[in-house]
Amino acid sequence: MTKPIFNFCAGPAMLPKAVMAQAQQEFVNWNDLGCSVMEISHRSANYIDVAKQAEQDLRDLMNISGDYEVLFMHGGGRGQFASVPLNLLPAGGEADYISTGSWSNAAIAEGKKFGKVNIAAESHSENGFASILPRDKWNLSDNAAYVHYCPNETVDGVEFDYIPDVDKPLIADMSSCILSSEIDVSKFGLIYAGAQKNIGPSGLAIVIVRKDLMGKSREGTPSIYDYALQSQSDSMFNTPPTFAWYLAGLVFKWLKAQGGVKAVQAINKQKADLLYNYIDESEFYSNRVVANYRSKMNVPFYLKDENLNKAFLAESEANGLLALKGHRSVGGMRASIYNAMPLEGVQALVEFMQDFAQRNS
Ligand code: PMP
Repeated sequence: MTKPIFNFCAGPAMLPKAVMAQAQQEFVNWNDLGCSVMEISHRSANYIDVAKQAEQDLRDLMNISGDYEVLFMHGGGRGQFASVPLNLLPAGGEADYISTGSWSNAAIAEGKKFGKVNIAAESHSENGFASILPRDKWNLSDNAAYVHYCPNETVDGVEFDYIPDVDKPLIADMSSCILSSEIDVSKFGLIYAGAQKNIGPSGLAIVIVRKDLMGKSREGTPSIYDYALQSQSDSMFNTPPTFAWYLAGLVFKWLKAQGGVKAVQAINKQKADLLYNYIDESEFYSNRVVANYRSKMNVPFYLKDENLNKAFLAESEANGLLALKGHRSVGGMRASIYNAMPLEGVQALVEFMQDFAQRNS
């Protein structure tokens, strides 16, 4: 029997095996139509069923109330870095942003193109991003149109262990943590996520927006990025990313079959505990993030002897453990262990890490 392959890529990331097998099976002949789901009109009754069902399944999984619109948009996570201010930040207005790592900073850089950005909290230290400034130290401004933050920093492996309480609409970039643990959607003004980690193919972005926040886009907002317009057209103002939407629907069904978000949250905790516990007890590896803020989705780690990095990567890959190289901006290693990563994948990784450490100590 060939060795199983486990893909630890941060994104585009591995998708559930069962979903990929189903998509393969119906790839050229979907629904007995004699053609692929990606070859039919987005306005056909067949496709509209797919689109509606995917939205309903996501609503069920996240317990999204009728106060919120769910949009399936183009442009991935970064598209939303611009869409959020275009729709929610009036010309000449200001917004609060929380800086906790690479991705919140990228959102800040984009936000600055559209108005005044107040960095209300910044948690950079000499060791890089390893913590989160406590909520009572945030310097929020009175006139902010919203507060933007990134609950899980994919590059730095820093994750909020709480939803911040603010009196402005709270905007969250959940690209790398959506559907990984139960959250109370009603605490948010808007949630967005690029799909390519816990949802499906890249390019698609999911936006969950409170209805009263729509309809205030600034003049000049590109139509495809206008929440109200997309909402009026059921996310089909132009041709949506139909295949990605279909695949997202399969992932949502798979998640429901696993027992929903609560069930995968428990497995995600088991996976993360296994890996962090091993890293902490080993003399050979380290993780620099303060314990409370360690990401359950992205686990960066360093070899104490960085001269061994190349050998570690070559050997892990030869053992079927793919894409463990850390982001180029921070170096080291990173294991991304999203919903689709089974516990066995993390067990295989820890076994390899133990073996590698033993042979090289
Ligand atoms: N936000 C976060 C938290 C991310 O991890 C990423 C991608 N890794 C992005 C935004 C950007 O997503 P995209 O490449 O789809 O624009």
